[in-house]
Amino acid sequence: MRIDGSGTLRAGCVLCPNPGPMTLEGTNTWVLREPGARGVVVVDPGPHDERHLERVARSVQEQGAQVQMTLVTHRHFDHTEGSRYFSELTGAPVHAVDPKARVSGTGLEDGQVITADGLELQVIATPGHTDDSVCFLLEADSALLTGDTILGYGTTVIDGDDGLAPYLDSLYRLRDVVEEHQVRTLLPGHGPVLTSPLAAIDSYIDHRESRLEQVREAVRAGAANVEEVIDRVYPDVVEDIRPAAASSVRAQLRYLAVKGELPEGVEG
Ligand SMILES: [Zn+2]
Repeated sequence: MRIDGSGTLRAGCVLCPNPGPMTLEGTNTWVLREPGARGVVVVDPGPHDERHLERVARSVQEQGAQVQMTLVTHRHFDHTEGSRYFSELTGAPVHAVDPKARVSGTGLEDGQVITADGLELQVIATPGHTDDSVCFLLEADSALLTGDTILGYGTTVIDGDDGLAPYLDSLYRLRDVVEEHQVRTLLPGHGPVLTSPLAAIDSYIDHRESRLEQVREAVRAGAANVEEVIDRVYPDVVEDIRPAAASSVRAQLRYLAVKGELPEGVEG
């Protein structure tokens, strides 16, 4: 399922050939441009794959355009490792929330409006997948670039034990953004474009909420720590998967603890 080239009027995709369990078909590098303008904004150059980065730079050149700036949705290497080389190729700065992910660039603030040769993007902070994750609203196309906060299919991984509460808050916030700005298209960091944004966000919310409900039930039934919750929620878990199950249960217990939902004596 390739999505190379597809997108919206102002957004085209160059797919990086780095497929994998975490990256689906590969990283989507988004090339954004106001129709008829010269200045281009690139979102997520991708890993350090010189052929991919050169292909992105060439596709911009062939449009008679020029990269004005590069933005990243979050710090993970499959989005940012190629930033330095891409900046060398284009001479354009790379702006990012995480100072380590910048190349001669500045930070990105929630609510900030970024303009480039007539193109307008709004930064929406959506911590959870990582604490520096952002989405970019491309209102002119009723589109939202979601990075790894929402993928073209499957679910995203949450970085760290404390990520679930901000992640759920971010999903609810994106739901509001989609309704308020009548967003019709999600342009994810991996996987195909999504044309039913609310359905996609709601299925992400339902997935997280139903897992939390299972953990609540396990606790009500007497589970008092991570291992006991795993035994109740994932009774058939194989040893290989147990560490992954443990990290997800730990994050869920932490979430319930923060929300004041854990009874005395349960390790959160
Ligand atoms: Zn990614």
